[in-house]
Order: sequence, then structure tokens, then C-alpha cells
Amino acid sequence: MDCLFCKIIAGEIPGNKVYEDEYTYAFWDINPQAPVHVLIVPKKHMENVLECDAETAAHLTDAIRAVARQEGVDKTGFRAITNCGEDGCQSVKHLHVHLLGGKKLSETMD
Ligand code: AMP
Ligand code: ZN
Repeated sequence: MDCLFCKIIAGEIPGNKVYEDEYTYAFWDINPQAPVHVLIVPKKHMENVLECDAETAAHLTDAIRAVARQEGVDKTGFRAITNCGEDGCQSVKHLHVHLLGGKKLSETMD
């Protein structure tokens, strides 16, 4: 499958890995919007949150917590968002959660 994030998970394209477990993989965003900007993805390919089953959602939540603690933003706070589809400006069609932190983030989300 011609999917950028599947290739990063498989090690076919270099990614700057932050965290990995049996179900999830996390790496630094190539175009960071905050001092901490990590992408957390399920290893299993799915296009976006519309295709995400409850088990995968739970594994992603576990990984969000683990990465937040590892990168030291669990105490200061962070934002975890997933863009979906055209209006959500999703550019990579493999489900990913943006974990943003390390600074006071904007109060608006549009
Ligand atoms: P989205 O717009 O929600 O689909 O987010 C896609 C994200 O992937 C953007 O923040 C990009 O900066 C990021 N991105 C694109 N290519 C790469 C790459 N090769 N390595 C790491 N992050 C990437
Ligand atoms: Zn994929």
C-alpha cells in the first residue's frame, strides 16, 4: 500500500521515532507546530477516526499518555487532536493523533 505512515512504521522511510509498542508507533512531526509535536499512529492501517475500532482507540489513548509522560508535558498539559477528511484538513490518510505541547497553545482550534 502506498501510505507514507505505513512506510515510516515499517522503517522503509526514515522517521524520528519517539515511542513504539505492540499496537502503536509515534514519531516527531516533520513540520512542528509546537516544541513538542508528535504524531501517534496505529500500526494497523486505517484512514481516519471514522474507521477506528474501540480497541485501537484504547491503544492510542495508552500511547498518548505514555508519550506525554515521556516528553514531559503530562504535568504542564498538551493537546491531542486528529484531523479527519476534507474540512478537517487531513493530509495523510493514515489515522494519526497530533500531540502538541511544550508551550501555551492557542485558545482557538480553527
Ligand atoms: P494532517 O494534516 O492532520 O494529515 O497531518 C499530517 C502531518 O504529517 C503534518 O503535520 C505533517 O507535517 C506531517 N508529516 C508529513 N510527512 C511527514 C514525515 N515524512 N515525517 C513526519 N511527519 C510528516
Ligand atoms: Zn498506512
